[in-house]
Amino acid sequence: MRRLYIDFDGVVMDTIPTLYRDLEKKGISLDDDESVRTAFFAEYDFSQVIKDKYILNDSINCINKLIKSKRFEISFLSHINSLREGTVKIRYLRRHFKNITIILVPKGVSKTKMVHSKDAILVDDFSGNLREWNETGGIAVRFSKDLESKGYKVIDRLDKLLDMFDKNGDLIC
Ligand SMILES: [Mg+2]
Repeated sequence: MRRLYIDFDGVVMDTIPTLYRDLEKKGISLDDDESVRTAFFAEYDFSQVIKDKYILNDSINCINKLIKSKRFEISFLSHINSLREGTVKIRYLRRHFKNITIILVPKGVSKTKMVHSKDAILVDDFSGNLREWNETGGIAVRFSKDLESKGYKVIDRLDKLLDMFDKNGDLIC
């Protein structure tokens, strides 16, 4: 079985548009100092954006298909801005999956510093994470709703990994 790490925001759940909308409502722009956003996220009620309504392209059912395939040893690997955000994510994921490891990464720390990336797959929507993953010997797969590859292998549904990796978890093409 090949190790597979699945990002949360923008892959499992469509949290980003709502988060950006709420940032904007508060008059915070992405050009503002990082500390402004950090303060916003520390107070933010993440249970508003982490709920079934925002499941991205049938991700929960797709992950169940991946589990059934027995091709991957699956973990979630997600950046968090605050402990509160982490708690909401764990609660949500545990409601759907009893046996998948959940790894929360403090914002500002590379995902490659938290887990051993070599020969493991990372599905992520953020190119910065994918670049680091490739650089450290991992297999980077971009998740994009519009199948925008940005130079990476790309999927818009998690069950498409079953077309990309064979029964041993080896890359098909
Ligand atoms: Mg993401």
